Amino acid sequence: MSGSNRVFLVKYGEISLKGANRRQFEERLIGQIHRQLAGIPHRVRRAWGRLFVEDYADSAAVARALGDTFGIVAYAEAAVVPRDAGLLDAAAVALAGRLAASAPSSTFKIEARRSDKSYPQTSYQIACRLGDLIRAALPALSVDLRNPGFVLSVEVRDRIYLYGPPSPGRGGLPVGASARGLLLLSGGIDSPVAGYLMGKRGMPLDHLYFHSWPYTSDEALAKVERLAEILARYVPDARLCALSFTAIHERIRQRARDRFATLLLRACMMRAAALVARRTGAVALITGESLGQVASQTGEAIAFTDSTSELPVLRPLIGMDKEEIVRTARAIGTFETSILPYPDCCTLFAAKHPVLRPDQAQMHAALRELDAGELIAAAAGGSAPGAERLSPVPATPSRTTPVPATT
Ligand code: ATP
Ligand code: MG
Repeated sequence: MSGSNRVFLVKYGEISLKGANRRQFEERLIGQIHRQLAGIPHRVRRAWGRLFVEDYADSAAVARALGDTFGIVAYAEAAVVPRDAGLLDAAAVALAGRLAASAPSSTFKIEARRSDKSYPQTSYQIACRLGDLIRAALPALSVDLRNPGFVLSVEVRDRIYLYGPPSPGRGGLPVGASARGLLLLSGGIDSPVAGYLMGKRGMPLDHLYFHSWPYTSDEALAKVERLAEILARYVPDARLCALSFTAIHERIRQRARDRFATLLLRACMMRAAALVARRTGAVALITGESLGQVASQTGEAIAFTDSTSELPVLRPLIGMDKEEIVRTARAIGTFETSILPYPDCCTLFAAKHPVLRPDQAQMHAALRELDAGELIAAAAGGSAPGAERLSPVPATPSRTTPVPATT
């Protein structure tokens, strides 16, 4: 047992609902906490439907890591004392003084829990006794059970844990709870948010960027790398792969009507992404599309794009307004990077009057005329210029991929 006198209590909600899978989910969450705290000494212990992070020196680093780990509902740093009334009293008064300093009012409430019934006082008796004691020691404070300025929680277990208001976690499921996805990561605002939201549902990710050098600059690629780094805060261990799409752009310009260009490009992206997904073991593609946001995101346009994809395409932003997306992008720290002014290929090649309600048969005919199968296979088989240094996706299919080997 740890001898430290401070620990982080970690509460997880959804994962405790999963019945028989519960243990597996807890282990994933513990694995993710260890991953977030790589290089920082600590221990994680599981007990009473909670996790306890112990034996650390750097509180701020632990708090930051827990705040970025999906699957955590709330966490709080607790003072820990042995089951000794004198030590409990002193710790309660000290903590009340600290919490009062930043509370909105000078009222408080004690929430006591006694999970070990061998402790001589009931929860109610503990709360009353500590309440009286704190008022006597800190006369400026008074008790308000309905609308307290702060709540001081006391849990009597193997030892006694005292803590103030917990910090909210990000919720969701620990990364690894779902099968792997492949995020189509552009330099824009939307796709990083889409990746974040799928990560929040437990999906491990790899990222795929279509680079069209020299039409898109080295800075555009660097921006995508930076976005991938920021996402790694929440979804660790994602690989970034950049493919060269220059030849495909050129083929579209030569052979297709301007109004169809964006949708044909998207069809080529879906096909190239499926080839990469085979190698990374992804079961689904993820995009930042949102219904009606641009011409290529009307219902008919999305129907066409979908019909060209071998894999399910997950679009977590489909029902979100741009303001909601921007708010999330700011909150997760990707917005400032996303708005750096390096245009991606879609903006560079966009037609003035793109088709809004594409005819499916006509679009499929245009895709056949493009005859881009070999170009797509070649793009998917290599790296974009300047991207060779990125962590490459495996050259051979992943054993876990469900995609058939021929198409
Ligand atoms: P974003 O803000 O994510 O760039 P967007 O609103 O600009 O999205 P589009 O440019 O039409 O919309 O792209 C729609 C989606 O297609 C993107 O969210 C992304 O998932 C994918 N995508 C577009 N361009 C690229 C690219 N160059 N590389 C990888 N994925 C891309
Ligand atoms: Mg874009």
